[in-house]
Order: sequence, then C-alpha cells, then structure tokens
Amino acid sequence: MDRELLISAIIDHAALYHGDTEIVSVNTSGGINRYGYADCRARSLKLASALKKKGMQKPDRIGTLAWNNHRHLELYYGVSGSGLVCHTLNPRLHPDQVIYIMNHAEDRVLFFDKTFLPLVAAVKDQLKSTGSFVLMEASDEEVSAEYPWIEFYEDLIADGDDDYTWPDDLNERDASSLCYTSGTTGNPKGVLYSHRSTLIHAMMSATPDVMNFSAQDCLLPVVPMFHVNAWGTPYAAPLVGSKMVMPGPGLDGKSLVDLFNSEKVTISAGVPTIWAGLLAHLEASGEKLPHLTRTVVGGSACPPAMINKFRDLYDVEVLHAWGMTELSPLGSVNNLKNKHLGMPESDIIKLRENQGRPPFGIELGVFDDDDNQLPNDGVAQGNLYCRGYWVLTEYFSGDGGDPLHSGWFPTGDVSTIDADGYMTIRDRSKDIIKSGGEWISTVDLENLAVSHPDIAEAAVISARHEKWDERPLLIVVPKAGKTPDPAEILKFYDGKVAKFWIPDAVQFVESIPKGATGKMLKNALRDLYGDVLLAK
Ligand code: AMP
Repeated sequence: MDRELLISAIIDHAALYHGDTEIVSVNTSGGINRYGYADCRARSLKLASALKKKGMQKPDRIGTLAWNNHRHLELYYGVSGSGLVCHTLNPRLHPDQVIYIMNHAEDRVLFFDKTFLPLVAAVKDQLKSTGSFVLMEASDEEVSAEYPWIEFYEDLIADGDDDYTWPDDLNERDASSLCYTSGTTGNPKGVLYSHRSTLIHAMMSATPDVMNFSAQDCLLPVVPMFHVNAWGTPYAAPLVGSKMVMPGPGLDGKSLVDLFNSEKVTISAGVPTIWAGLLAHLEASGEKLPHLTRTVVGGSACPPAMINKFRDLYDVEVLHAWGMTELSPLGSVNNLKNKHLGMPESDIIKLRENQGRPPFGIELGVFDDDDNQLPNDGVAQGNLYCRGYWVLTEYFSGDGGDPLHSGWFPTGDVSTIDADGYMTIRDRSKDIIKSGGEWISTVDLENLAVSHPDIAEAAVISARHEKWDERPLLIVVPKAGKTPDPAEILKFYDGKVAKFWIPDAVQFVESIPKGATGKMLKNALRDLYGDVLLAK
C-alpha cells in the first residue's frame, strides 16, 4: 500500500499495540504522572483539535520551552501529527537568542513549563508572531492574577474534541519539527525536519546496532527534548513500545539514580557532563544501577575513563554515539561486529572508545582541504563529510548559507574512518591544534587528562606560540579538595602520547564555560588564555 510516512503513525501504533505501556513523567511542579500510550495519543489528538480551533494551520510553527515530560511528548505528536511544526527551544540560551530564534521561526504559540515563566515574561513583548502563551499546567488562579495573558494547557486539552482525527492531507515530505543549532558564532541556524526524515531516523535508531530499543526496554532520555529532539528517542521508543520515563527538571545525580532504580530503567541517553554528575553521586553514595544495561553517550566525546567506569563498576555498556542537529541527529554509534566477538578483551575495549560506525541511511567520508576523498584506513585524517536520508539540504528560510558541498554536508569535525567504517573524532576543525605544521588532537589530550585521579574536568586549547605558532594548553578543574601539581599532571602524559603533543602548561580554573547544550566553549577559553604562552 502506498502510505505516507507520518509521525502520527508512531503514536497510533503505540496506542493500538502498547496502549497500557507506561509513560512515567516527573511533573515540573512536583509529583509523578503515570499513563499509557493510549492516553498519550488521546490527549495528543485533543491538543491537535484545540490548536485547530485556535486557527493554527499547516505549516505554522508552535514553540516549546519545556523539560522532558508527558505534556511535551503530547506536543511532539499533537503538533506534528496535525501538520504543524513542533519547534523545541533551548531554555538555556541567552534571552536575546530566544527572541531572535522565535521571531525567525515565526512561532505562533509558545508552550512552556513553569520553570521558564520568568524567561517567557521577560521576552514576551519582543516576540513578533507569538499570540498565545500556554503554561503546561492545570489552570491556576494565582498565576492568572499575576499574568493575565497566560493560558493553561489542561484547559486547552479540555477544549479539544474527542472525535478529532489526524488530517488526511499530509505528505511525508511536509515539515514536522524544527531545531536551531547551538553554534557559538553568528546567529543560530534552523534545521527543519520532515515526517519522512524523522520516521526513517526513528526506525533506524531502534535497530540493534544503533540504540537497540525493544518493547522489553524502559527508556529514560536524560538528553533534553529541546536538544535535537532528545536524539529522536521520543519517536524511536513508542515505535517499538518501550516504556518511557521522563525525568522532568531533576537532572542531578541523585534524582536520576532514584528514578533509574525505582522505575527499573534499562536504557538511557545523555551527554558526558550529565553522566559525570551521576557517576560522582554513585561514587559518593555507594549505590548501584541494578537494572540499567546500557546508555547512549554523545554530544561531545565520551572519555574512555567514563566508558570503563560504567562497565567495570556498574555493569553498564556505553554506546558511544556521534551526531549533529543537522543530522536529526544520529550519524554513528559504536557497536561491535560479528568478527570482533573472539577478539582479546583489551582490543575490544580499545575499539569501543571511538564514535562508531554509521547505520544504513548515513554515509561518512573524510576529505582533504581540496575536497579530495581520503581513504578509510584509520590513519588518514581529514574533514568529516556526511550525506544521507536524514541530513539537511538547507537551513530554515535559507538563512545560514548553503550547507552542502558537492552533495555532501561538511560537518566541521576532523576525523579518521577505518576500513570497517568506525569513525574517530579527532577535533572540531576550529579547535584542532597545528603545532609546527603537525596536528594535535585536543580530544585525545582531554580524554587522558580526565583519567587522572585528581582532575574533574579538562579542556585543551590552542595557545599562540612564538616558535611553533600554536601549542596545546591544558585547562583543568581539579576534583574537590585536590591540588595537583602541574608538573606531575604533565608527566602523566609521558609514554601515552607523542612527546610534542604534551601540553606546554597547565592552567587551573574553577569551572569551564559551557554552551546551552553542555559543550565546552573553547572560543571563550581561547579569548581568556590564548596568549598565556606568549607572556611566558
Ligand atoms: P550539535 O548539533 O549541537 O549536537 O553539535 C554537533 C557537534 O557535537 C558535532 O559536530 C561534534 O563536534 C560534537 N559531537 C557530537 N557527538 C560527539 C562525540 N561523540 N564525540 C565528539 N564530538 C561530538
């Protein structure tokens, strides 16, 4: 049959065959909501009906500023399912960026969690297209008295028709959702996803060599639904009928461990920073993770020390993944092949450290600066290019320049790819260090630094140097109560990397500046410390 690949089909399937499979959601204002996929679908349809009554029509953009919770999930399905575009906004952005992005996207309605009420109140008058502001709560007289312009989510749901059905005029190439990149320079750029790209991405995400979701799993996505659609997990989990646990605002180690263990979570996904907090909590409390079997780690490089800790102390398998907003986001995931099964344990451990290989639907290549494709031999290092079913062709509204180069999307990362397709990120092209004409990977140096027992966080930047042009500078946040010696830290690199890779100096700091998605802001560090070697 010739049927369109539509996002509504996912929640329809989940409701029909996994109707009582639970979605457990931590509410922003306390307490837990529990219901099944059938309830989620019914409320998504009512929401879609209420938005139609408000005059919304394809392809109007509907903004969200929200945590991972059941109402946000209903928005994913209710908005996209009815032909509107679900535009998830990152609340950690500077208010000026939120204003820029919402005006650029021309969001007509904004749904937001109570946490973000101060932000919404501050930016509201500068939003040119947004006519409705919906607080994702039941109606609340106190809030109404102070903010008369606010509508309430539960009122909208109550207003929706029970017999509403998904529109039958949607095409799989219609837009379904929108995310802006968290670039550190220039204006954020919009990436518009289609029903088709989202569905193909979700179907592939669930397969065994990617995230390996099944109806036996219980998924807790720590990665926020405002960070590239929580890496597509809110589509991939209902598609196979996994139970879902939505952690709401509590992303600290203790809250997460409590949820993992009480809800018997089997699989999770998140950025290394979150896992560092969770591992620190486990270390301090002595708790374990008896139900968690694996977790997807990506967004920035996962240090091998973290992979080892998860495996050795908690029996949790790390699936190291690489992706980008422009790729919906999955580009590669580290899973073994049949031929690796008999390999010595130490070789397997080494192999599992890199960013993995692309699933069907994504092709990766490394290219030199003149656009010549380099061999997949694990040695040739070049600019990582990508193409595939869920890679963008242009930025939203065309603002942000042409992202493609001879049919490929240059990712801005520098990598090697081996003959089996396993890709290793060496750096961002703008972060990599070129010292006396030789490349030095800051990622490798950071991974080693955080395996030092006294170091909590580390960043390596390129610092200007009179003789070598650039030399690595190691910036370190020591663990609480530790005062490591700089010379001893640098000695730690002996024998682990080539001599010329060893940083010239160590700079101690209290914290490392991070952007809205938890990535280190190396340009800010370069502004602060880029000249310290010259001064010396
Ligand atoms: P974003 O679009 O905000 O998700 O950022 C995408 C960028 O994050 C990529 O181009 C990489 O530089 C970085 N990134 C994502 N995953 C990884 C990973 N596993 N290892 C290293 N860098 C990563």
